[in-house]
Amino acid sequence: MVPVRWFGVGHPLLLVVGVADGSVLVGVPALRWISQRPVTELASYVSLPLSGSDMLSRLAEQVGTASTARLATFRTCHRCDAKQPPEWMLDDDRCQACAEADGVVF
Ligand SMILES: [Zn+2]
Repeated sequence: MVPVRWFGVGHPLLLVVGVADGSVLVGVPALRWISQRPVTELASYVSLPLSGSDMLSRLAEQVGTASTARLATFRTCHRCDAKQPPEWMLDDDRCQACAEADGVVF
């Protein structure tokens, strides 16, 4: 298998783009915590060959699809009213920043 070099896009992380020999991959990230360390995994991805006159339009379409899928996982913090990625939420109600402001120690 050809190694893939992955690059994260956005803050918070919105999607990942991988470059491999002859193809580009567009993925939806899924982050989880191992103790205090975030680990990035792939919820899904598509591989596009780096060829064809429509390559850029296919790439743009997949970037849009992945971004929409990732944004669909964001939740609203009921304290600060901001939409946050799931890995930044303490629970269904509060993001980690609000929880910390409320005295939660991580
Ligand atoms: Zn918050």
